[in-house]
Amino acid sequence: MALIVQKYGGTSVGSVERIQAVAQRVYKTVKAGNSIVVVVSAMGKTTDGLVKLATEISPNPNRREMDMLLSTGEQVTIALLSMALQELGQPAISMTGAQVGIVTEAEHSRARILHIETTRLTRHINAGKVVVVAGFQGISSVGEMEITTLGRGGSDTSAVAIAAALKANFCEIYTDVPGILTTDPRLVAEAQLMDAISCDEMLELASLGAKVLHPRAVEIARNYGVPLVVRSSWTDQPGTWVTSAKPQGRSLINLEIARPVDAVEFDTNQAKVALLRVPDKPGVAARLFGEISRQKVDVDLIIQSVHEGNSNDIAFTVTTPILKRAEAVATAIAPALRSQSNPKSDEAEVMVEHNIAKVSIAGAGMIGRPGVAAKMFATLAEAGVNIQMISTSEVKVSCVVNAAQCDRAVTALRTAFEIEAGEQGSRGAGESACIDSPLPLRPSAPLPNCPPVRGVALDLNQARLAIRQLPDRPGMAAKLFGLLAQHNISVDMIIQSQRCRVIDGVPRRDIAFTVSRIDGENAKKMLTQVAAELGWGEVVLDSAIAKVSIVGAGMVGQPGIAAKMFEALAQQQINIQMIATSEIKISCVVAQEQGVKALQAIHAAFELAGSEKFVVPA
Ligand code: ADP
Ligand code: ASP
Ligand code: MG
Repeated sequence: MALIVQKYGGTSVGSVERIQAVAQRVYKTVKAGNSIVVVVSAMGKTTDGLVKLATEISPNPNRREMDMLLSTGEQVTIALLSMALQELGQPAISMTGAQVGIVTEAEHSRARILHIETTRLTRHINAGKVVVVAGFQGISSVGEMEITTLGRGGSDTSAVAIAAALKANFCEIYTDVPGILTTDPRLVAEAQLMDAISCDEMLELASLGAKVLHPRAVEIARNYGVPLVVRSSWTDQPGTWVTSAKPQGRSLINLEIARPVDAVEFDTNQAKVALLRVPDKPGVAARLFGEISRQKVDVDLIIQSVHEGNSNDIAFTVTTPILKRAEAVATAIAPALRSQSNPKSDEAEVMVEHNIAKVSIAGAGMIGRPGVAAKMFATLAEAGVNIQMISTSEVKVSCVVNAAQCDRAVTALRTAFEIEAGEQGSRGAGESACIDSPLPLRPSAPLPNCPPVRGVALDLNQARLAIRQLPDRPGMAAKLFGLLAQHNISVDMIIQSQRCRVIDGVPRRDIAFTVSRIDGENAKKMLTQVAAELGWGEVVLDSAIAKVSIVGAGMVGQPGIAAKMFEALAQQQINIQMIATSEIKISCVVAQEQGVKALQAIHAAFELAGSEKFVVPA
């Protein structure tokens, strides 16, 4: 007999008939000898409807009252599903987040779970009842016992957290698609179903726009080793398993806010090649990385900053032994990247930097916590370390620094994030990184027989901010991202320009990053004020962007993946505005109206399509 947590999303409980069908499935699972806790979402598009009502009354509704309002949606479903189960003769009881004791931070509309009381749940389960719990909601522990919500899509997180707290055998997420597909089937009907995907890959995909799972649910599954499967509510197909290594016992106290950083890693075996002032037009990155891949040069980080005038800088890192080859390729291709009609002498200048090191912090608890990256930058600034390049992913922030400062940087970060020496990763020539740590720090090995790219995601809800001419000295990134963190604005894809310009005797660089579109205007207003006070340049906001990304653990050490992605975009005449990579993902910012076309082109280029077409039920 197993203890199973099942979660049913909005479409799956969208009508009385569907609730009855869910009750049938739950009943069958109980009759097969299992104990079940069911977590449900609000019916259909109820939550969207409630949001609309609120915005008809106030353009900027009070967050406490929003939680009061939105939490009602799930309360309807739990009562109806319990009734449906009781009609089948199955004892059941509905419970709100507060009644269960899902204790969260007192942070309305984006609360993180601190712990889950299991006493009442267990008592009802032991009495033979199915417990039907309202997803997406909790109760704050301090002061007034306020109703909180976890953020849109948060019922997945409720379910996995309950599974972790109850040490359930597994957690099933029932939804309107047969599992996790290579991309959103609403955008590419031939998207293919996967049998399994690693937590690391899913964490990236979910954070990069694949809304089939809430990223925080994947984070909890990864941290607590909860076996997780995504399945269709309409069929008995097995769905997709999200696999994770069995972690060492981790406390269930401060469930979602315990240590955000698990390790500090470094790699002193890196060199950087930058091409400055290449034309800002489709096809440039494709040509450069196409040639690099033909020469079998494996690049690590790739960064393309926001354009200045009509030119871009593209930089990449390689391991030192292949630097000569990488430099030769860049130098050979540079003339072809100059504008053919009107070449200027300073176009496509190749810049090589030998003595660099990559220093990273890694951990699954960074998602949506802007303070973590800010703390890294502040720590480096306090240690007098200047940051040359920044590359971010959901589970890692990497900074390229001067190699001579690497030891100092690592020691400071280890102290700041309370990482024991034994948990530290390092990487020497050709070795793979990372020594005994409580969690796999490197992306878990690709699953057997998997293609290097597993999935493609599109995020149409981002905006890009650029700050021109920030002084190039320690502490600037810390200041900037510290301010954003104070305003609770999460930042993604941070990119510093390679180009350094001396203005009023001070070397300066541009820095660009993406934020959620809803935070764009606020961030711009706040930063414009600060920029005026501190003598920074202009703050530029572009809300019409799309971020398209590929994810796969198998792309590590495989030259040519980036080139293929850039080539697919070039063929469609899609200009790449920014590029950022981590070990297992590559993201490009493109114009918003080209987002869907970009996704489709990339999905096709990696031959991810299957022969079957999906029709997603309404
Ligand atoms: P639920 O209401 O069940 O939580 P969601 O709408 O939150 O469902 O998530 C399911 C939807 O996620 C699918 O209908 C699909 O459009 C979308 N989706 C995006 N990317 C993917 C992907 N890679 N695989 C499967 N579904 C995806
Ligand atoms: N009902 C909430 C939403 O629509 C939570 C969820 O469904 O996961 O965002
Ligand atoms: Mg969902």
